[in-house]
This record gives sequence, structure tokens and C-alpha cells, in this order.
Amino acid sequence: MRCPLSASANAKIYLSPPHMSGREQAYIGEAFLDNWIAPLGPHINAFESELSAYIGSGGATAVSSGTAAIHLALRLLGVGEGDSVCCPSFTFIASANPILYLGAEPIFIDSEPESWNMSPAALEKALAHASRCGKLPKAVIVVHLYGAMADMEAIMGICESYGVPIVEDAAESLGSTYQGRQSGTFGRFGIFSFNGNKIITTSGGGMLVSDDILALEKARFLATQARDEAPHYQHSQMGYNYRMSNVLAGIGRAQLDVINDRVEARRSIFHIYEEALKHWGEIQFMPELPGTRSNRWLTALTIDSPHAEYMIQQLLAAMIRANIEVRPLWKPLHMQPLFEGNAFYSHSATGRAVCEDLFHRGLCLPSGSSLSLEDQGRVIDVVEDVMHQLTGLTARAVN
Ligand SMILES: *Cc1c(COP(=O)(O)O)cnc(C)c1O
Repeated sequence: MRCPLSASANAKIYLSPPHMSGREQAYIGEAFLDNWIAPLGPHINAFESELSAYIGSGGATAVSSGTAAIHLALRLLGVGEGDSVCCPSFTFIASANPILYLGAEPIFIDSEPESWNMSPAALEKALAHASRCGKLPKAVIVVHLYGAMADMEAIMGICESYGVPIVEDAAESLGSTYQGRQSGTFGRFGIFSFNGNKIITTSGGGMLVSDDILALEKARFLATQARDEAPHYQHSQMGYNYRMSNVLAGIGRAQLDVINDRVEARRSIFHIYEEALKHWGEIQFMPELPGTRSNRWLTALTIDSPHAEYMIQQLLAAMIRANIEVRPLWKPLHMQPLFEGNAFYSHSATGRAVCEDLFHRGLCLPSGSSLSLEDQGRVIDVVEDVMHQLTGLTARAVN
């Protein structure tokens, strides 16, 4: 007699689904009991102070998304019409869209092979060129992609020498450290995202962090329609409706309680993939700079082979057939139709840009902190099958 397949045997495996701690409903319940459903209230204040205590920043302002936090950071740095802002090319579009919101122009910077993040060499070229033209960018946005830290020492040195402030887009890197210091605390401003797929989530939300308490106060003001202090509704500046709701901040507090467990779970998932697949010489995992610790938000890998692009396509297709969600690496922003004509500085003078090369040769595997060993085994089996087939094929093709 045939045994029916268990319900979960072919259930969809998601890339990075929300993972609740179990305490969220208690926090939400409090908000309902006290009728604090508005975009202000005790959970907001507590979430802000708990997050800034966790990362070690002077303060924090909770907002409706990571994108909103970047927008506020750039606005506070005085970015406006006709200005420019440096931004990595190898990132999610949300890093760069706020530059456009303010009427400014992005200057895209290539990645370096050592970290996959902003290349200090390319940044130096961009700032030297801007300086010769007498028009430095108003800010440099640094991203810690997939949780892996950028080379902050080199980048901060370059930015200091030109006097350009840093905004750290730490949307993917909550809990990652650089020489023991938390991501998000290196720039004039740092930002985090609590979107549904991030390492912790409020279903949607973000945080602006800084040591500059006055600037964070200004951010709160701008995020609540820039309402002047007056008994009537009076406005002398353009503001936004960007504050987080007290209900969602309650979810955030319950999530932040378990952030260290979430980081350990994702790092362990990365480690299991690496141990299982490293026997394939063609598979290389995203590096981690010495002295840094990535939260391994997503396990990212590249294929090192003349057939890499074909192999990636086969891996993506096989995963879809097996009901597993996988993603190519971010398509570089300087290759996006939206940014046609924007400046791009590459890491080395010759050959394909580093970020273009990574994009063509890489993908992200399911990495949610709730991923079971069985489900991770299913993902590994698919990679094994495809690699066996493909390396057999390429070996025959050569013969
Ligand atoms: C998710 C993400 C953002 C945007 O955060 P939202 O909360 O979705 O607005 C910004 N930058 C990077 C690198 C991200 O991954």
C-alpha cells in the first residue's frame, strides 16, 4: 500500500519568511488594552530605546519603513535639488530611491571582491573626481549587503578626508558587527528595516539611529507632518507621514527580544550550507571580512566556472520546480533602466565591474531563521542534483 506523502514533504520553502517569537500578541494586547493604536505611544518609545541600547547608539526614531528612514537621513543632511549622493550599485533599489525623492542624483560605486560591498578604491575615484569638479556629494550611503559588513575603516577614512558624511543602510545587517561594534553605528545616521523578510520584522517598519539627539528630534518632527508648536495646526516646512504605529512597535519589541537567537540561527544555516556544499570547488560562499561578524541574513553564493551563468539559470529553474523560493543576487542599480545615464565608478580600470560579475554568477538560498533541517536538506539535495548533472555535462562537453 502506498503511504500518502506527508503534507509538508513538498510544501513551499520561502527565502526569508517572518519568524514570530511567540510574545508578539502579548505586546499587541497591551496596546489594545490601553487603546494605544495611534502612531505614538509607550511601545514606540520603548522600541526606540531598546533598539538603541542594543546597538549602542545615542538614540533612535521609529518610522514606517527603512526607505522612509533613508529619506529622512538624507533630508537632515541637507540633500536637495541638484545635489549628488554616492551609493553602492550592488544593493536593493530602496537604498537609492530616496536620493531621487529629494531631486538629487545618485553616483553609483562598484563593489570590491573581498566584501562584495562598496569598493573603497572606486569610492576614492568618485570623490577625487567630484572634488576636482568642485562639487562633492552631500552624503555617501554604505550598505552591508546580506548582513556582511563593508570595509568601514577604509570607507570612513576616505569620507573623513573629503568631509562627506556617511549614511549606513543597515537594513539587512541588524546584529552584524565590525570589530565588535554594531552595524548602523558608524555613520552620521544608520537605518534599519523591519520589512517582512528582514532578520526581525514588524510586518513593515524602519528605524533611524544616530548619536545626534537633536537630529533625531528633527526627524520625529518631519515624520509627523512637520507640525509647528502651536495650539492650531501650523506648518512652516514640508513634512511626511512616516511614524511607526504603536501596535507595530509592540511586535518589534517582541522580535528584538530574540535578535541574538535569530542571528545565531541564520549563521548556523549558512554554516550547514557551506559544510554540505563546499566539496564543489565551483561553489563559493559570500566572504566575511576579517574582524567582522555577519548576521548572514541570506546565504549568498557564486559559481566559479566558465559556464556560471548557465549553471545559475539551471539552479534557479530546479529550485522553482522543487517549490523552493530562491533569488538571483541584486541586479546592480547602474544596470537598471531607471538609472540610465547616472555615473558609475568601477573597482578596477579593466574588465567587467565586480558587481556585474557577482550578479551574473550568484544566487541566494532560503535562509529564514525558522528553516528546519529537513527543509534545508531539500534545498541542499536540489543543489547536489543540479551540480552532478551539470558537472557531468561540462566534463563530457570537454571530452
Ligand atoms: C529592505 C531594504 C531597504 C528598505 O527597507 P523597507 O523597510 O522595505 O523600506 C533598504 N535597503 C536595503 C539594502 C534593503 O534590503
